[in-house]
Amino acid sequence: MVVEDEAPLANLIGSYLERDGFETALTGDGTDAVALARQVDPDVVVLDLGLPGLDGVEVCRQLRTFSDAYVVMLTARTEEIDTLIGLSVGADDYMSKPFSPRELMARIQAMLRRPRASTATPGPAETATTDLIRRAGDLALDVDGRDVTVAGRPVALTRTEFDVLAALARDPGTVLTRAQLIEAVWGPSWTGDEHLVDVHIGHLRRKLGDDATRGRYVRTVRGVGYKMGAGQ
Ligand code: CA
Repeated sequence: MVVEDEAPLANLIGSYLERDGFETALTGDGTDAVALARQVDPDVVVLDLGLPGLDGVEVCRQLRTFSDAYVVMLTARTEEIDTLIGLSVGADDYMSKPFSPRELMARIQAMLRRPRASTATPGPAETATTDLIRRAGDLALDVDGRDVTVAGRPVALTRTEFDVLAALARDPGTVLTRAQLIEAVWGPSWTGDEHLVDVHIGHLRRKLGDDATRGRYVRTVRGVGYKMGAGQ
């Protein structure tokens, strides 16, 4: 699904997607986008930030109440990405205009190829386990069921947020650099700003009720990256 009010750009993105074998649905209006998403149940949404009707941030928020589609948000300027970092938008990736449609397609293909936590190659200790639950204090992460609970309460994470948490939880004693997290979640061919990781970590912490300075569940290792916290 392409949500972009600049018709030539929307058509260009649509034609690239179709060339890659996608069925496309296009709209240039934010309000229509939410209704269209309910109708077509998209796998991928390319979503412009500045739209008539609802803006991209609000479209994404509403989308997240019923869809776990991959969302790539398009912004007019690089600085807008910094603003979006402060908001709990729920996009999986961001691109600033102007961008190369090829690069956008490469990002989308990389997202769709991403090793899903449930299908990732299990480590030696995991092969015998069918019901894989990771715990950190009162946080429980069901890798196969893709469920996360804190103190028994379910936490609604986007696919990307779940994958970031699952990557950290895979080896709780190990610090992962941003580059390692990018590779684990977005795949080795992803190129872009590694601070995308920080955006998703920020959203994760907010949803888990975690603290950036203390990090019960997701701990910052200054100058290195992130690791799973002990849950306290
Ligand atoms: Ca626009």
